Formats: sequence, structure tokens, C-alpha cells
Amino acid sequence: MAERELISNVRERFYREDGKLIAGIGDDCALFGNQENNPWMISTDMLVENVHFNRSWHPPYRLGRKVVAVNISDVAAMGGVPKFILLSICLPARVHETWLEKLIDGIYDICREYDCIVIGGDTVSGEELALSVTVVGTAGLVAPVKRSGAEVGDEIYVSGNLGNAALGLELFRSGDKSPAGQNVFHLAHLDPTPQVNLGRKLAEHSIATAMQDLSDGIATDLAHICFESKVGALLNESLLPMEPGFAECCNRLGLDPTKLQLNGGEDYHLVFSAPVAKRHAIKKLQAEGFTLYKVGEITAGQGVALLKKNSEVEDISYQGYEHS
Ligand code: ADP
Ligand code: MG
Repeated sequence: MAERELISNVRERFYREDGKLIAGIGDDCALFGNQENNPWMISTDMLVENVHFNRSWHPPYRLGRKVVAVNISDVAAMGGVPKFILLSICLPARVHETWLEKLIDGIYDICREYDCIVIGGDTVSGEELALSVTVVGTAGLVAPVKRSGAEVGDEIYVSGNLGNAALGLELFRSGDKSPAGQNVFHLAHLDPTPQVNLGRKLAEHSIATAMQDLSDGIATDLAHICFESKVGALLNESLLPMEPGFAECCNRLGLDPTKLQLNGGEDYHLVFSAPVAKRHAIKKLQAEGFTLYKVGEITAGQGVALLKKNSEVEDISYQGYEHS
């Protein structure tokens, strides 16, 4: 069973109304609480050794940061603020104490930066090294931004260059380990930055109609927004923001830069839709220093299409990662 089928199966079987459940499966976080405003947000993400990280190039300090960052990112994707963390570790005997100490240092530092507290978790021994984090966040009195609110005619924005983390991973895979932690691509893979402040502003000022974080590549992540909002999206290839040196580096590795930008996962930038009437609000955020690029628009169709530089239009829905 593919990942999407499994999730929709669980979603259907467990669907039911509950006075305390505001939104269940289908968004970056589930929302619950006693009232529609001021809900709690909850989300979980797991990283498994040799599937999601490789210890030969991932320093434990940065891995600790990343496992928390990817969870905080799901709270940011709904415009919330992270508060509490549950940390579960499956620990093989081969993992040294010093490695573990550095992992915890990374977890501690990122929790301090985002004012989060680890309030529990679980520790077990096992064959595989796996890290699972659950984050609890709050929306305060700001309405959370769901994946389901995009409307035809809205513009689509992303909060940064696309494909950097995927290129970083490809660099490590190709044996290019130096200068690990120095280069923007390596760092994007090792230690992503969740966009909490930006997500908050987009929610607070009712700019984003639908939003999510870029974990699986924009071709897949935007397809989730389209599915939940019952709309289509048209991305413009010539608007996809690209880091300087990205194309050259891709060419050196024999990779197609546009494909990596569309399908490469783990950038943890935000992708969101916003009405044309919010352009001035977007300009204001840009003036405040937030990086925001328009990359396309919401259409009456279905799924994600790409307007290529040669003017052809191609369906690219769900072309990204499927199990990250
Ligand atoms: P994200 O990339 O934002 O972490 P996912 O694509 O992993 O989200 O998951 C999409 C939705 O499916 C989320 O609402 C998530 O909570 C839910 N989900 C994923 N896996 C499972 C599972 N095994 N059981 C129940 N819900 C799941
Ligand atoms: Mg997400």
C-alpha cells in the first residue's frame, strides 16, 4: 500500500465528529481543544537512520536540531507557535554516549531558540536508530491556516529557494563531504530552519488562504493543498527561485535542476496561496526582510501543472518524495 493510500484508509476508518477535535488527519497538524478559537496543535515526525539521515555525514548536534525543526515546521505551516515536545528514541547498542550527548545538545539549543520545552517521550533499545518527535503548539487567538482554503485566482508563494536541501543530500551521497556544514546546500539538508515567524505573520494578517511546509517537494506538497482545497495549481518554471550556483552544481552531478527544485524534499520553506488583494501585505512583509517569491497561481483544474519555459504545460502532481 502506498503512503497516500494508507493515510486515506486510516483517515476514512477513524473519521468522526468529536466536540474536542477541530481538525484531524489531513493537515500539517491536528487541532483540538474546548473551543474553535485558541486550539492546540499537534503533529509528529520520525527520522530513521539510513532512511532519513546518515551518521557518516550528519553530525549529531545538527541531527538533534533537525528532528525538532521538522516538527516545529508543521506548527509554523499552520501559523502556530510551538510549545511542548515529546522525544522518543530507539537506541541500538552501537551508538556511543558522546554521540547521544551531542544529539541532546542540538535538541536543547533549538528548543531554547523556539521557546519549547521537552515534557516527555520514550526510550527503548532496538536494532535501528530512530528518533520520533511530537510537537504541541498553539494558535493563540489567530485562526490556523489550513490546507483547504485556497481559492481559484489566488497567487502561490514560497518562502525561499527551492531544492537546496535535496542538492545538499545529493552532494553528500556523491561523496562530497567537505566542506560539510559550510556550504548552503549541505546546511539546508543538515539543519533546516522552520519558518515560525513568517507563518505567524501570514496567519495573523489573514494573508494566506492555504499553507503547508515543503517537506516532500513542491510538486507533492502543493498537490496536497490542491486536493484539500479542491482546486488546481499552475506553477511557472521561470519563477522557481534558485540559489546562486545551484544549476552549476546540479550539472556537475548530472542532475536536472528544475526536477530537483520541484521534486526535492526537506526544504521546510512555506508554500501558501494568497488573494491578489493581499499583494500590498506581501510587499510589506518583504520590506520587513521576509523572503517571498511568487511561483504560480491557483486554477479551477485539479492537481499541479507546470508551465515550462518552452510554453508546454505538464502535470507534475505528486512527483516528489513519498515517504519522508
Ligand atoms: P507532514 O508532511 O506535514 O508531516 P504527512 O504527509 O506526513 O504530513 O501526513 C499527512 C497527514 O496524514 C497528516 O495529517 C498526518 O498526521 C497524517 N498521517 C500520516 N501518517 C499517518 C498514520 N500512520 N496514521 C494516521 N495519520 C497519519
Ligand atoms: Mg507538513
